Amino acid sequence: MTDTPKKYSFRTRLSHAGRAGTHVHGFVNPPLVRGSTVLYPSVKARRELGAKRLQQELIYGIMGSQTHFALEDMIAEIEGGTRCQIVSSGLAAVTTPLLAYLGQGDHCLMPDSVYGPARGFATATLPRFGIETSFYDPNLDEAGIAALIRPNTRVVYTESPGSHTFEVQDIPAIARAAHARGAKVLMDNTWGIHFFQPFQHGVDVSIQALTKYPGGHSDLLLGSITTNSDADWEKVRSTTLALGQYASPDDCWLTLRGLRTMGVRLKEQMESGIQVAYWLQKQPEVARVLHPALPGAPGHAIWKRDFSGACSLFGVEFKPEFTAEASQAMVEALELFGIGASWGGYESLALPTTGFLTRTAGTGVFAGPVVRLHIGLEDPTDLIADLDQALAVLRTHGK
Ligand SMILES: *Cc1c(COP(=O)(O)O)cnc(C)c1O
Repeated sequence: MTDTPKKYSFRTRLSHAGRAGTHVHGFVNPPLVRGSTVLYPSVKARRELGAKRLQQELIYGIMGSQTHFALEDMIAEIEGGTRCQIVSSGLAAVTTPLLAYLGQGDHCLMPDSVYGPARGFATATLPRFGIETSFYDPNLDEAGIAALIRPNTRVVYTESPGSHTFEVQDIPAIARAAHARGAKVLMDNTWGIHFFQPFQHGVDVSIQALTKYPGGHSDLLLGSITTNSDADWEKVRSTTLALGQYASPDDCWLTLRGLRTMGVRLKEQMESGIQVAYWLQKQPEVARVLHPALPGAPGHAIWKRDFSGACSLFGVEFKPEFTAEASQAMVEALELFGIGASWGGYESLALPTTGFLTRTAGTGVFAGPVVRLHIGLEDPTDLIADLDQALAVLRTHGK
């Protein structure tokens, strides 16, 4: 972004990025632009514009409007990439680049901890195109990944931390192994947002569900695919257009609005999340808190090396003496935490993990039941009091 020099901090850039009108006479925010047909001044102009479909030009609705372009610029800025494609959902941001890089006879590697619908796409849809996927232990190091790469492996997919069980992957090591063997590294960076800068760690294509913190209000779905080279951009952009992928400008506009406050929301939610996580760690019913920012938690060392912060999504593993049913009764006893999928909104959520996840590489095995928590913008003191009363339900369930 020409109007937001890198010397400014993340929070400052969130206020200024994606606002072409910042230094001209105009509205503070980019107005919402909707449209399908674009009228050209001449037939010649139409032909010339048609050749620019990989660029930010007003050509036809599906190629985007100023609203899309503003959001694309902002996400590219946040992730430190050069170009970004906005698509209709986080899941579309997962499936589109997989289709861009994989073809008949190719092989894909995915972490066992991957987001469920991404696994579903790899196991149910990709095989119909002759593409095979194997699932690997997310904790593998460079040699471990290298040993799994076949001559036809084109994509090493990553998601760090895993959004249910919070394994932190060694992305630089995985990228070294993949690149040495000609494979691309795709990463779902939804948890890391801007705390993890994917292109500084060897990622080729970064995926985000903007549905989460960027939207921030649990009222829209949107996804982004960000690249850092012209070749990757062309692959992603041309596949997106070929699939007819499109994002509603209204949702882009709402996400631009959400992003203006994301810095302060993230700061508050990170602090509250860590406060709640520390409290949980001290409770006698808790075996482990799966929060990468907590010293001693799984993946903490890599998180500390590669991340500059944490979002407010983490897991709690209870002691093995408690049943999955007891953990579900505890979740239902919570007053302030909704039972729901997704995360990144202003409201707290709780979701039992045990019994709801598919694993095929033998990972994600826990001795006791696991619950995933998303900490919202409520007062953390109230959230802790709510968890405290719900733990009593966990203790007494079935007794
Ligand atoms: C939510 C989520 C997605 C999918 O986003 P949607 O917008 O809900 O389709 C992808 N990856 C991760 C890690 C997610 O949590």
